Amino acid sequence: MAKKKTKKPAKNWRKFWKLGVDEFNTQYFDITRNGELVVQEGNYIYNLNDIVKKYGSPTEIVFPFILEERLEDLHDYFRAYMKIGGYKGKFYYHYPMKVNQNKEFIMPLISEGAHMEVGSVNELWLVKKLWEEDKFHSKLRVLCNGPKTDAYIRLIEDLHLKNLSIMPIIEDEHELEKLSKYKGEIGIRINLNTKADTHWDKKIDRFGFTAKQILELPKMKNLKLLHYHIGSQITTASSVIKPIVEAMELYVKLIKIQSSLDTLDIGGGFGVPYEKKPFYSAKGMSEKMIKLLKKISDEAGIKHPNLVIEWGRYVVAPAQVTIFSVIAEKSIPKGNAKSWYVIDGSFMNDLLDTWAIHQKWHIVPVNNANTNSLKSVWLAGSSCDSDDKYTAGGSYVLMPKLKEGETQYFAVFDSGAYQDALASHHCLLSSPAKLIAQDGAIKIARKRETADSIGRLFGWNGDHK
Ligand SMILES: *Cc1c(COP(=O)(O)O)cnc(C)c1O
Repeated sequence: MAKKKTKKPAKNWRKFWKLGVDEFNTQYFDITRNGELVVQEGNYIYNLNDIVKKYGSPTEIVFPFILEERLEDLHDYFRAYMKIGGYKGKFYYHYPMKVNQNKEFIMPLISEGAHMEVGSVNELWLVKKLWEEDKFHSKLRVLCNGPKTDAYIRLIEDLHLKNLSIMPIIEDEHELEKLSKYKGEIGIRINLNTKADTHWDKKIDRFGFTAKQILELPKMKNLKLLHYHIGSQITTASSVIKPIVEAMELYVKLIKIQSSLDTLDIGGGFGVPYEKKPFYSAKGMSEKMIKLLKKISDEAGIKHPNLVIEWGRYVVAPAQVTIFSVIAEKSIPKGNAKSWYVIDGSFMNDLLDTWAIHQKWHIVPVNNANTNSLKSVWLAGSSCDSDDKYTAGGSYVLMPKLKEGETQYFAVFDSGAYQDALASHHCLLSSPAKLIAQDGAIKIARKRETADSIGRLFGWNGDHK
């Protein structure tokens, strides 16, 4: 009797790990037949398992092409919907530098047409350096947010005199006073929350004026821009739209007093689907936003404002992954997961938001991603701190069961936003190496820190007298 062959169709591992999905920003990722995680840049392919075996772990890998594509798409959406809708204002993307100040992030964004938003004198100093090195032409515009120290104001004035297109955004009375003699264009920030009079603690706002205060300002010939920034990782479409309505209410009144006003800057806050669940999209939202801005300004009989957006996280988070390896397993007697996987790096140091704001991450094995032999685990960082862990909010992470004699690697997705500048040195662990994957090649941007280089940060200069 012939053996009946009922060959089960191969499991779709790409789908299982939620890769290859545009809405999740994982369209560049796939699993090979050998169960290895790869990234595709056009016809180039980066095998993350090969890379981490060659360069070691922990390591961060930056994909500049992802940054470029995301910004290009944003420009395309807004410009297309402006054109289709007969919107007369211009669109400007300003990259908020604080989200990731690494040169490997900034340069591709500038080349793709990003303008800049800085939040401190030191960030502005980096822009000045690029400017002096002729790394961008004079059309690049710089917005300056954040508390204006004397040094910050001096640098703004200096760069303005050198003809850089720079605009300080005034956030309080103190700054208004200090910048009263400033001749260049200025912006003003509104704190939309201050509308809720019931919140006693918001009466003295930290960032921005109330609408009332703004409407009472004396006429200023150089006031060009109205700005708000309400937060980060906004989770619903309506919370992206509602503040625009509030801000436009003020804009319409303000332009009657301050006739030089011509730009609305809606700040950052656009979210990223870290958890790979349905989320609002930039394409859909850009259409809604342009229609809304057009409707409000047409009804009020004012010129369509130029639109500035400062979506940082949205553009850069998906452009980097962080890879760790598992160095030990410890069983969990009672919990939602079966084991701890102890890793060769630290959540607390290098993905600090895990600890600070209980950030959820999408985690995918770099090798053995095609096995049915999976285990529910929690991840433990290798600092000596019990808070150095990732438990997916008390749930669990799926990971291949460990195999004797084979190192298990995994990638944490969307690590491109905020984690670098927040990184720390708890227990003096080394920061991951930083690699750049571009045009089919891997470059080392930053080597893994050595004991000596970390020691120097703490005054151990090799001279121990
Ligand atoms: C932090 C910040 C941003 C970026 O916010 P995201 O949530 O990353 O988009 C934009 N503008 C200002 C003024 C900021 O402070």
